[in-house]
Amino acid sequence: MNFYSTNNHNKFVTLREAVMHGLASDRGLYMPETIPKIPPSFFESIDKLSFEEISYYVASQLIGKNLPHEELFRIVSHTIQFDAPLVKIEDDIYALELFHGPTLAFKDFGARFLSGLLGYFSQEQNQKITILVATSGDTGSAVANGFLGVDGTQVIVLYPSGKVSDIQEKQFTTLGKNIIALEVDGSFDDCQRLVKQAFSDVELNKKYFLTSANSINIARLIPQSFYYFYAYSKIKQLKKDIIFSVPSGNFGNITAGLLAKKMGLPIKKFIAATNVNKVVPDYLKSKEFIPRPSISTISNAMDVGNPSNFPRMLNLYNDNFQALSNDVIGDSFSDDDTMSALKEVYSKYDYIMDPHGAIGYLALKKHMVEFDNAVGIFLETAHPAKFNEVVEKVLARPINIPERLNEFIKREKSAIKMSADFNEFKSMLPTLITQ
Ligand SMILES: *Cc1c(COP(=O)(O)O)cnc(C)c1O
Repeated sequence: MNFYSTNNHNKFVTLREAVMHGLASDRGLYMPETIPKIPPSFFESIDKLSFEEISYYVASQLIGKNLPHEELFRIVSHTIQFDAPLVKIEDDIYALELFHGPTLAFKDFGARFLSGLLGYFSQEQNQKITILVATSGDTGSAVANGFLGVDGTQVIVLYPSGKVSDIQEKQFTTLGKNIIALEVDGSFDDCQRLVKQAFSDVELNKKYFLTSANSINIARLIPQSFYYFYAYSKIKQLKKDIIFSVPSGNFGNITAGLLAKKMGLPIKKFIAATNVNKVVPDYLKSKEFIPRPSISTISNAMDVGNPSNFPRMLNLYNDNFQALSNDVIGDSFSDDDTMSALKEVYSKYDYIMDPHGAIGYLALKKHMVEFDNAVGIFLETAHPAKFNEVVEKVLARPINIPERLNEFIKREKSAIKMSADFNEFKSMLPTLITQ
């Protein structure tokens, strides 16, 4: 399988190049040159397979020819180290819980698959791969934990001092091994500038193999399709139409679902659920895609004004608006709606959602009435403890912190302090990067 850029459908690169560079040189996003069709026989017996087996099958359909089977199997196993349970909330409404990984959010799946692939590709060269990541909190923890202990890779996390929560900070400053944290005296934008400057610095790039583990990397998208198949395997015996509601920000998660559908997974409809940052729901109404500055909300992982995966969504439908809008309903909800949903689901069903999952739930409830004999699944993208400040206030009760998060809190922070000056960063890098 080769990959083309959404900006140029005639130029192909290998999986290795697509994964190592993340973004195409023409700034487009990489897409698989063909979308494999999964035979119906697979779906007939899918309920007899484990999450790992389903994931391996899907991965091998997509990239099975790109690397040895045992390597792909190892990478899939490394990715699927935790379950994605489908939890019944009420009649015909289920939550697909994607927060059972080390950093309590679905981004763990993508980060782990990417780290596995980069670790594999690093074996083919005599050079370590150094991942530079600027973070305002969550990306740094998912990437750092995903790469922890992966041979041939090293992660340097840059974060703004005093501007990430204690618990987020602990998730990437207590790991040791191949993870280094740089505490920058500056803002998140400063961190991002330092990283960007490093990527464009000729001298550094001659000496080191620097890459970004960017969220638009195709290796982060592929594993996000696995859990749609897995959820289907758990619910197919109901013999109902399946609706997925996906709380969306950069639209990677829903694009992975649309990819699964294109591979043959029988899904009736997707709902793109957003907070008030509703560029895509507006597009689905008006045909016009108008990026805008983002607005802060309590579902802040979705505060995105220019969704980066939108070109991929369009590309899956050959830029055909009608085809895309046949498969995807868009809707958006306010913070007040979100808080009411958190309360309602807790008081009626004793289930604690997080603010992102709550938006998925709201959209599902609202649109399920449009379908007969259907079952709806919303993606619970984060554990409520990750957003405990909001959730505790709304529900007026404490949220239990999962043990794996408590483990981080107990550990000792280790970070190197640094100014926001590029020359200081540049002269420090040789002391950090081990060859
Ligand atoms: C990143 C994130 C989202 C948005 O996912 P996209 O793939 O960017 O649409 C939703 N919820 C949580 C908790 C997230 O961290």
